[in-house]
Amino acid sequence: LEPKEEFEHSSLAVDVMRPRRGDPALAVLTQDSMTIGEVETLVESTHYSGFPVVVSQESQRLVGFVLRRDLLISIDNARKRQDGIVSASLVVFTEHCPAQPPEAPPPLRLRGIVDLSPFTVTDHTPMDITVDIFRKLGLRQCLVTHNGRLLGIITKKDILKHMAQIANRDPDSILFN
Ligand code: ADP
Repeated sequence: LEPKEEFEHSSLAVDVMRPRRGDPALAVLTQDSMTIGEVETLVESTHYSGFPVVVSQESQRLVGFVLRRDLLISIDNARKRQDGIVSASLVVFTEHCPAQPPEAPPPLRLRGIVDLSPFTVTDHTPMDITVDIFRKLGLRQCLVTHNGRLLGIITKKDILKHMAQIANRDPDSILFN
C-alpha cells in the first residue's frame, strides 16, 4: 500500500467492505452453538482466509477472528487425536463450555486459535484513516461494525481494488454520476 496514494474523503469503510448489497451474507462462526460438521460445511463452502466469531447469529456481537488455516488444522488434529470428537461435537470458542445433555459427545475447545482483539472500524470511518491503520499495523483484514454489531470485513486486497477503481475513474463520470 503506497503512502502516496490518497483517498477522496467521501469514501467510507461501508463503501469498501464486503458483503456488498446482493452478495451472500458474511460467513461467521458462532461462539458456542455450531457443531464440527456445521463448521466444516461453512469453511468448505467458501474460500475465505478467515471467519469472524460472533456471540450468536441474532446478536452479531463480535468475539474474535479465526484463520481458516488454523481452524482446519485444529479440527483435523482433534479428529485424529482427541477421544470422542465427532461431527456432532460442539465447537466452543468461549472460555467455558455451555451445558450439554449427558449423552452429547465431548466438545472441541478452540479458544486458543481465536484472535480476541481483531482490528475493527465503524461503518462511517473514512477510508483514508482505515488505509493508514492498515499500513501502520500491517493488517491483512479488518472488521466493520455498526453500534457494536458486526457488519462486514475489509481485506488488504479489497483496499487495493478500491484504490485501482479510484485511479481509473474518468473525471467526467465523477461529475455526471
Ligand atoms: P483476499 O481479499 O485477500 O482474497 P479472502 O479470500 O479472505 O481474502 O477474501 C475474499 C473476498 O471475500 C474479499 O472481498 C473479502 O472482503 C471477502 N471475505 C473475506 N472473509 C469473508 C467472510 N468470512 N464472509 C464473507 N466475505 C468475506
